[in-house]
Amino acid sequence: MGIDEKLEPILAEVLRRNPGESEFHQAVTEVLHSLGPVIAKHPEYADSALIERLCEPERQIIFRVPWQDDAGKVQIARGFRVQFNSALGPYKGGLRFHPTVNLGIIKFLGFEQTFKNALTGMPIGGGKGGSDFNPRGRSDAEVMRFCQSFMTELHRHIGEYTDVPAGDIGVGGREIGYMFGQYKRLTNRYEAGVLTGKGLAYGGSRARTEATGYGASYFVNRMLGARKQSFEGKRVVVSGSGNVALYTMEKLIQFGAKIVACSDSGGYVVDENGIDLALVKELKEVRRSRISEYAKMKGGSARHVERGSVWDVPCDVAMPSATQNELTGKDARVLIKNGIVAVGEGANMPSTPDAVRAFQEAGVLFAPGKAANAGGVATSALEMQQNASRDSWTFEQTEARLAEIMKNIHDTCARTAEEYGAPGDYVLGANIAGFIRVAEAMRSLGVI
Ligand code: NDP
Repeated sequence: MGIDEKLEPILAEVLRRNPGESEFHQAVTEVLHSLGPVIAKHPEYADSALIERLCEPERQIIFRVPWQDDAGKVQIARGFRVQFNSALGPYKGGLRFHPTVNLGIIKFLGFEQTFKNALTGMPIGGGKGGSDFNPRGRSDAEVMRFCQSFMTELHRHIGEYTDVPAGDIGVGGREIGYMFGQYKRLTNRYEAGVLTGKGLAYGGSRARTEATGYGASYFVNRMLGARKQSFEGKRVVVSGSGNVALYTMEKLIQFGAKIVACSDSGGYVVDENGIDLALVKELKEVRRSRISEYAKMKGGSARHVERGSVWDVPCDVAMPSATQNELTGKDARVLIKNGIVAVGEGANMPSTPDAVRAFQEAGVLFAPGKAANAGGVATSALEMQQNASRDSWTFEQTEARLAEIMKNIHDTCARTAEEYGAPGDYVLGANIAGFIRVAEAMRSLGVI
């Protein structure tokens, strides 16, 4: 779809003002391309430079993170927190620790997060942060010292009513624990609602660990259901083998699917007998080792492929759950040739624009990340609710809320797409529905 003529100069200005930030450009371009129909129907949403304001983070913080490795050598990393939009509530979004992290990536994630959080219907604004620190191969003690140093600066900028970080790539329960410990020490406050993804022993929510993967599975299940299809007997490829991938596999196996492949940055494993999830969990959650070990330990039916693309493995449903731009146009064309029915993005922006176009043109059901992976942040908001009421819900209660939220997000996206003349276009539906909720709030708050 071409871009609306009112939106074209806005996009050009965003690209000009944020040079070199290619992932941020990609995210803004996709959203602005979707907004034409809504601006045509509601020109007031383009008043008062509302869209320009939406594309400019409210605050961007960059800081030095010095830390000492086990050999006593001082290392320097760079920390980021981009507080993108607080029209709907405190900034909310994860922290990513990965060597590729830079300001453009954090801005793309914060921008996406703003719309995703709006789609959940919960009172949370959008933000994102992280560091170019590489946790791979670091000891527990090194990770702890890094997290403590990171929080020593970050603590001035966050708070349960201000900004509530969580995990993302490279940040799981261990890192959140170290950061919460340091926040508590620095502030002398047991402010449980300042971080989510906490351990159950100190204010975490049941089902938060599972939430993103489970949520993506619920979303795609409903999307298939709307076409009278289900996961029963479907061959599924899930990329990654981290938090999102593991719990996507877990729920899809419950739904009757067969997971035939998963991956990490060193390659992928194929197991025609169905991936043994208990083994992948042991390798990734306990031993923190590589996916190649799977084939070595499993032998027989399993093989590890070091080069090439996990998307070469024939499947009915693809669940990209590793990182941005991991599924290219070329991959999409291979998947289409192999008869793919649906794609559900567990990761943020894993499909390139070329891939999304190819899927849509081929009539493949496509669930964009900002809708499909919103279950993680939604359950984080449920964790904040439990912290605020000093309560702790059961797993079943929490998962039931998550399932309901995912159903609502799915239905909102589907209905919005239909209302704006593009039935079945979940990208357009998600972008417009998220935008309207943020825009309504921003219009009420004056020029801020
Ligand atoms: P994890 O760190 O737990 O796992 C990431 C997985 O992806 C690992 O298997 C990792 O392999 C792989 N991976 C990461 N970078 C690359 C790369 N450049 N190339 C190939 N593989 C890569 O992260 P999460 O599971 O938490 O996050 C995965 C995605 O889901 C991200 O896009 C994140 O933004 C998104 N997301 C996460 C949410 C959450 O609640 N955690 C919520 C919503 C979205 P390796 O170990 O080899 O690096």
